[in-house]
Amino acid sequence: MTDIYNTSLVWFRRDLRDTDHAALYHALKHSHAVYCVFIFDTEILDQLTDKSDRRVEFIWQSVGELKASLQAKGGNLLIGHGKATDEIPKLAAQLNIQAVYCNRDYEPSAIARDAVVAASLKKTGAAFHQYKDQVIFEQDEILTQAGKPYSVFTPYKNAYLNTLNDFYLKAYPVEAYIQNLAPSTEDNLYHEWNLPSLEHMGFNATQLKLPTGMSGAYTLFDDFKTRIEHYQEARNFPAIKGPSYLSTHLRFGTISTRALMRTAWQTAGEGAQTWLSELIWRDFYFQILHHRPDLAEGRAYKLEYDALSFPNDTQLFTAWCNGQTGYPLVDAAMRQLNQTGYMHNRLRMVSASFLVKDLLIDWRWGERYFAEKLIDFDFAANNGGWQWAASTGCDAQPYFRIFNPITQSEKFDPKGNFIRKYVPELNELDNKHIHAPWLSGKALLARYPEPVVTHALQRKLALELYSKKL
Ligand code: FAD
Repeated sequence: MTDIYNTSLVWFRRDLRDTDHAALYHALKHSHAVYCVFIFDTEILDQLTDKSDRRVEFIWQSVGELKASLQAKGGNLLIGHGKATDEIPKLAAQLNIQAVYCNRDYEPSAIARDAVVAASLKKTGAAFHQYKDQVIFEQDEILTQAGKPYSVFTPYKNAYLNTLNDFYLKAYPVEAYIQNLAPSTEDNLYHEWNLPSLEHMGFNATQLKLPTGMSGAYTLFDDFKTRIEHYQEARNFPAIKGPSYLSTHLRFGTISTRALMRTAWQTAGEGAQTWLSELIWRDFYFQILHHRPDLAEGRAYKLEYDALSFPNDTQLFTAWCNGQTGYPLVDAAMRQLNQTGYMHNRLRMVSASFLVKDLLIDWRWGERYFAEKLIDFDFAANNGGWQWAASTGCDAQPYFRIFNPITQSEKFDPKGNFIRKYVPELNELDNKHIHAPWLSGKALLARYPEPVVTHALQRKLALELYSKKL
């Protein structure tokens, strides 16, 4: 693309940073004056039933920091609140924009939104340019030798690593053209397109503990780099600081995926290599969604498992959501999710498996609950994780592998430290009985429920339920 534009617009979405940013780089390189915009999209916000949604506050704070950062560089950020499909064309017309730049989003609803915006812009003669930014390899970039998409992770990862080189991990040098940011001097314009308060948008501030914005991402990343060599052993134990806690920052692009991948790729040792694999899982699920957009309509990846006849007991579902199943590790996990918006990866696997294979509830119910609560909610990874746990997914565990919630607890929270943090009513139990309190002989009933199901019985029922569909 060789056009040089007088004025262009960078539309920030899940890429809330102004360094190593593909769309911003290309816009600056090819335009004399680049405006920047973020829209609080009411089509998304209106679907959120929890008015204390932590994601809105995370975005709100991160957008504020992005604006200040662009101002410090001589530019600014216009901020809208409305339907993005209306607001972007409206702003483009107001500013005589010749091209809108943004980074590609892979969720079907976002793809549909972008098509509407592109069509509106076309009517006024403005171009719409999209770039790969949130993943290293997208869409059809990693295919089998037969030209088919991978559905199994390990061969995908091998092909991915064979293709990876410095070129794909190089940062976009936004700074080289930063003088092309449109100056931040038009007071009326920035008054009209100013950061609305959370209250104005109908949301409340939350007790957000996660550091936000580009600065928050780097605080977490710098801390993780001091621990990365221990990642492989530490990552499975929810009571210790093992993982990076960067998922929300990856979700909203406050840090560049390339920067994280570069560190993982260039750091020797099993810790960094294991972390690299986890980052590749993220790209893997994006490409799965690209090839199977029907997953966003609730379809099972393995279609033969699409209509399993789960009994779906609503009381059991409520007990699971509230962390009241009587299985301490599952309850601690669900309470962590409810109280913080985060859940440790090991616990996502345990609590998802428990919902599906112990409580016999459709994985889609759990997927939806996580989508509402997780601050790092990402459709592709969440759907991938749920379908993995439910054995309906692409590279899922076989249906007859069923986690035992007690042995998982003994193995990954041996002293019950994590359980004690979120289920304090079990504090008096020793390290042995805290995993299965009903065996302690202590009368805890007033404070903590008896197990809502018996694992061994439910396991048999789950095996029957799944085998009927084969
Ligand atoms: P780290 O261990 O530090 O991993 C680094 C990064 O790698 C993560 O931030 C994430 O971007 C990526 N990653 C790690 N594991 C996976 C994985 N299995 N699949 C895809 N990407 C991965 N992750 C989300 O980002 N959003 C979700 O909505 C989500 N839902 C999940 C639901 C279930 C049922 C399961 C089993 C997993 C889900 N995951 C999801 C994957 C994983 O649990 C989280 O990415 C991880 O716990 C986030 O913590 P972290 O950043 O400290 O991870």
